[in-house]
Amino acid sequence: MRSHKIEPYRSVFDATSGPGCPLCRYMRNYQAKCVQASLNPRPTGICNFHAWAIAAIHDRLDASQVFMTLLSSVSLGIITSCDICTRIEKEGVSQLRLVCNSFKTMTAAQWLHIYGEICIPHSLELRKIAPALHVHTIDKATAQYRDKLMRSLQEQQGMDIEGAGWGILGHAAEFLAGQRGLYR
Ligand SMILES: [Zn+2]
Ligand SMILES: [Zn+2]
Repeated sequence: MRSHKIEPYRSVFDATSGPGCPLCRYMRNYQAKCVQASLNPRPTGICNFHAWAIAAIHDRLDASQVFMTLLSSVSLGIITSCDICTRIEKEGVSQLRLVCNSFKTMTAAQWLHIYGEICIPHSLELRKIAPALHVHTIDKATAQYRDKLMRSLQEQQGMDIEGAGWGILGHAAEFLAGQRGLYR
């Protein structure tokens, strides 16, 4: 994870413009915020992804502070849960509820227009909590977005320009597996 600009999103509703899954966009930003704020509160348990993210984005002295807390709180022989993953999971559930509630105020066409580029992991989670009536809209969005990604990947076959299509590869990876660190 590289340090990147934190957007002032208040909820997933602020993260709906641009290509790709809006839940992934919001949650990636939230995750970056948690990692950048890991000096306060300092995590007492950490996973593989977030340990490396802390090492990568903080300067040496700040990262040392975080790791000293982790080293002093770690219980050898016991698997501890990651504080950052726990925060992300909780936030993810409340943002999914907001997206789920948006069905009440939008037609299926509006919903598809705004949330149409949803990734597979988020579509599966949303399916679990959405009213049965709207499951079809979620499935339609997921299938349409898959077809769009397929077309974009096919179009760039044979193009041999350095870096060309990197954005589309990132979106294909996000579609299949969600943003890095959000799913394990
Ligand atoms: Zn997503
Ligand atoms: Zn974690």
